[in-house]
Amino acid sequence: MDNSTFDTLLVDPAALPKILVVDDQPVNLQFIAHIFAGSYQVFTAESGQLALDMCHTTLPDLILLDIMMPEMDGFEVCKRLKTNPATRDIPVIFITAHSDEASETRGLDLGAVDFISKPVNPAVVRARVKTHLTVKLQSDLLRRLVFLDGLTGVFNRRYFDQQLAIETARASRTGQPLALIMLDVDFFKRFNDRYGHQEGDDCLFQVAHTLKENLRRPADLVARYGGEEFVCLLPDTNFEQAMAVAHELESRVRQKTIAHADSDVTNVVTISLGVAACDALTPAKSEALLAAADRQLYEAKHQGRGCVRGQILAAS
Ligand code: GH3
Ligand code: MG
Ligand code: MG
Repeated sequence: MDNSTFDTLLVDPAALPKILVVDDQPVNLQFIAHIFAGSYQVFTAESGQLALDMCHTTLPDLILLDIMMPEMDGFEVCKRLKTNPATRDIPVIFITAHSDEASETRGLDLGAVDFISKPVNPAVVRARVKTHLTVKLQSDLLRRLVFLDGLTGVFNRRYFDQQLAIETARASRTGQPLALIMLDVDFFKRFNDRYGHQEGDDCLFQVAHTLKENLRRPADLVARYGGEEFVCLLPDTNFEQAMAVAHELESRVRQKTIAHADSDVTNVVTISLGVAACDALTPAKSEALLAAADRQLYEAKHQGRGCVRGQILAAS
């Protein structure tokens, strides 16, 4: 993305990048907010804890972070941001009154991208923020291309495989349960044959979004596994909870009432779902989870479709 693309991106106010400014002095917040007013969406926080909370609600594209703050200082805020997968990709620029080499090194070691010293020069801070935002937005775009499915916009299989490995490792480390739902659109070949491939694509898009809308926990993930097959990965979720989610997804897709005159299940599009979960006593294994969910999906297909079947993984 060159500067002209970046500038076009700034034309639509809703698409303006979000900057979070963190400082315990309201006057500093106002001063910096004023520098960026009109160019970006500016959010402010007067403490480290408020900043962390705000990161999860607004997910800023960049953070300008004061170091000296009571209770939680900027270093601690940065450390917490960088250890959380949800916030670790947000660039952090420290703004500080005492720019000594030691604190600069410490800040950079913690994962900050830049250091700006007080008193802030508006032209300098504007230029540096623009540079770091450009890099951030470019890498967001690349991540999207690499990890999202082009047709439906949900995660692709590459991303799912990666997350499954991460989550199974985490579950066996922490002893938390982990659940997997594998699902497939019923009689989808007939759907394509009757309504055409374009309608088929639209249907997959709608199914994908229905799944996504109905997974409520932030850590839940939906991905397109292939063709008309999707997977939902549910960390910290036990078998009963996963079964409840699967039933909910089944009825939500049915309630979309996408006409399917050639289905043997009913006259609208339905899905079949296979659930597999391992509890705290059974260390999670990704292959075993996948195989079990696939087997349960097969069972659901075999027993009439438009239904859910599930299995708890037995201790090995
Ligand atoms: P079942 O209920 O047993 O799952 O039957 P089915 O017809 O859904 O399953 P089958 O595997 O026989 O057919 C899947 C169909 O999904 C065939 C394929 O053309 C279609 N399909 C796969 N990917 C896409 C896609 O991206 N777009 C569209 N429109 N169709 C797709
Ligand atoms: Mg199918
Ligand atoms: Mg299939």
